[in-house]
Amino acid sequence: MKEPKSFWAPVGTPFRDLLALAGGATVDQFGVFVSGVMMGTLTFDLDDVLTKTTGGLIVLPRDHYLITRRTRPRVEMNRIGKSACDQCSYCTEFCPRYLLGYEVQPHKVMRSLGFTVTGGNIWNQWAELCCACGLCTLYACPEDLYPKEACDQGKQDRRAAGLKFEQTRPVEVHPMKEYRRVPLSQLRRRLQIEEYEQATPFQEVECRPAAVRIKMLQHTGQPAVPVVGEGAKVKLGQVVGRVEDSKLGAHVHASIDGKVRKVTPECVEIVA
Ligand code: SF4
Ligand code: SF4
Repeated sequence: MKEPKSFWAPVGTPFRDLLALAGGATVDQFGVFVSGVMMGTLTFDLDDVLTKTTGGLIVLPRDHYLITRRTRPRVEMNRIGKSACDQCSYCTEFCPRYLLGYEVQPHKVMRSLGFTVTGGNIWNQWAELCCACGLCTLYACPEDLYPKEACDQGKQDRRAAGLKFEQTRPVEVHPMKEYRRVPLSQLRRRLQIEEYEQATPFQEVECRPAAVRIKMLQHTGQPAVPVVGEGAKVKLGQVVGRVEDSKLGAHVHASIDGKVRKVTPECVEIVA
């Protein structure tokens, strides 16, 4: 970004507006990591919007290492993993969940790529407690393979098959845990983001989007249900989506004063 910064913005503000307030990107072709380059999501859609859980936007050139890795088709990731994983187990030895004593062993999950017919369920059980931090894929694996993605897939397959995880032994912290911490400077180097590292202190910036799109699902549990109609006038802080009292979820609110332009089950759009 030309002027990277931190500032307040109304929920529902399009990324396009946020990037403009940060001076715009320094390159024409770029991708946006939402809420982190490791655990966040990657989008190229600048009409996507800020939610209450958005942890920040990180813009990287389209041909950056992290974007190239993230956009590789799953079938290709699996094919490479199946042929190139040598079971060195670095992915497991660095895994923060494994070091805490949980039964996560991504190198075993990698075996499921080669045993799709007979062994998927056996090897995938080692994926269940993976928290998808991405350290194995982006730092630990010396061969640039995709153990985290193998775990994602393993968890999905087990859920689809109705299989439930059972912890078979007590959770005990690995004796080497403290010695296997990853230095942030080294991690940044490995992720090839060192050159972008800079402070972005809070600034008083006036962010007044022409319109906001309030998503009905910004939280865990049930999506909220819109309670305003198209054409209604709403005030900042007014409830525009509700979750039934008996269900897990959170009401959602207007983030600006304005008029409701569009209502769908997924969102309420408000024009300032
Ligand atoms: S670190 Fe890479 S090569 Fe080694 S076992 Fe894990 S996935 Fe395979
Ligand atoms: S992504 Fe999962 S398996 Fe890989 S290091 Fe993180 S917790 Fe462990």
